[in-house]
Amino acid sequence: MSERFSPKVVPLLDLRNLRPGTLPIPGAPVSTVAPGLLADSLGRPLRDLRISVTDRCNFRCGYCMPKEIFDKDYTYLPHASLLSFEEIVRIAKQFVNHGVQKIRLTGGEPLLRKNIEILIEQLAALRTLDGKPLDLTLTTNGALLARKAQSLKDAGLRRVTVSLDALDDAVFRRMNDVDFPVADVLQGIEVAHAVGLGPIKINMVVKHGTNDQEILPMAHHFKGSGMVLRYIEYMDVGATNGWRMNDVVPSREVVQRLQTELPLLALEPSQPGETAQRWGHADAVGQHDTAAGEIGVISSVTQAFCGDCNRARLSTEGQLYLCLFAGQGYDLRSIVRSDASDDELASVIGRIWNARSDRYSELRGALAAESGTPARRVEMSYIGG
Ligand code: SAM
Ligand code: SF4
Ligand code: SF4
Repeated sequence: MSERFSPKVVPLLDLRNLRPGTLPIPGAPVSTVAPGLLADSLGRPLRDLRISVTDRCNFRCGYCMPKEIFDKDYTYLPHASLLSFEEIVRIAKQFVNHGVQKIRLTGGEPLLRKNIEILIEQLAALRTLDGKPLDLTLTTNGALLARKAQSLKDAGLRRVTVSLDALDDAVFRRMNDVDFPVADVLQGIEVAHAVGLGPIKINMVVKHGTNDQEILPMAHHFKGSGMVLRYIEYMDVGATNGWRMNDVVPSREVVQRLQTELPLLALEPSQPGETAQRWGHADAVGQHDTAAGEIGVISSVTQAFCGDCNRARLSTEGQLYLCLFAGQGYDLRSIVRSDASDDELASVIGRIWNARSDRYSELRGALAAESGTPARRVEMSYIGG
């Protein structure tokens, strides 16, 4: 067994009634950061904002919201704690003024947030610093997609990413743990494709011994569909999923398994900060067969990519997180609920980003060796993926 595959276990913690704390805003209160491009302490720009619109979900994926923790006794955020659409848009606007070009709505399950179309309409009206529409997208488990795709498109959503961990119905039902049939998600994907919410990305979290037998069937299914299938390494996010290194299937192995049946060639990244490494289906002479499309692998565990991480995350109740693995966020809700002006809000966001030094994935090994016990980290369902 290689060192990387020592059976490290992140114990299940009962976080049913715990909420993350908040961090003090960095920089002197009188210092101002005007709207405009930012760079954090490692020189990384701010380009991508992920907004969690609900902490609730209709699935109970074991790697994200395990049933034994997210049960009937779990305390979800009360409605008054959630950012209103007006508050979300006001905050998002200041992020866009600081260089954000892409906004992703997530959760929990974002399609459970009532009237999400109204929020989408308002976000779709924002323009980047160079006057372009935002790349406005949403990540969903697909359960409500067939019903909602048309209204999402009409509201101004450009594309969707759908999470799908298996094509085999029994495996899929086991993984969502609420007995939801895969056929309904596949239909949602079809409707989203038909109404033009593309290019659609499909996210598959690969868990060893649970759905890794689905790696090849998924690739065959989506080859030539115009959709990009991305394999995600099972991550040690949060503290409730009992993560073990042994459950991770490294992207390198995913690619090796794919290549037993499908010839692939490595493609260049399409933009800086891209989370996935891209692979194209090769044709008979070894060139990229663009009609067959591409796949991606996201190696968040085995190959850190913090160096150009340009993503910020806004939680359902308005906490700003600078890293998926952060334990605490910065409270922006109290700022938008005070009499602070937009300039003050922009300045706070600027100060927070300028001081950012997070690079958890690069430090993961060292941190684990140092502490032995896992630090308390925010749940994925709270800040979104
Ligand atoms: N409910 C929506 C969905 O499932 O698409 C959006 C929120 S979900 C938290 C966002 C993404 O995070 C999904 O693609 C999900 O598969 C991924 N995710 C959740 N927990 C994960 C983990 N432990 N490791 C890797 N990916 C994870
Ligand atoms: Fe829900 Fe998405 Fe988490 Fe699954 S991954 S439990 S669908 S929030
Ligand atoms: Fe970005 Fe944190 Fe992930 Fe590194 S670990 S890529 S800093 S979110």
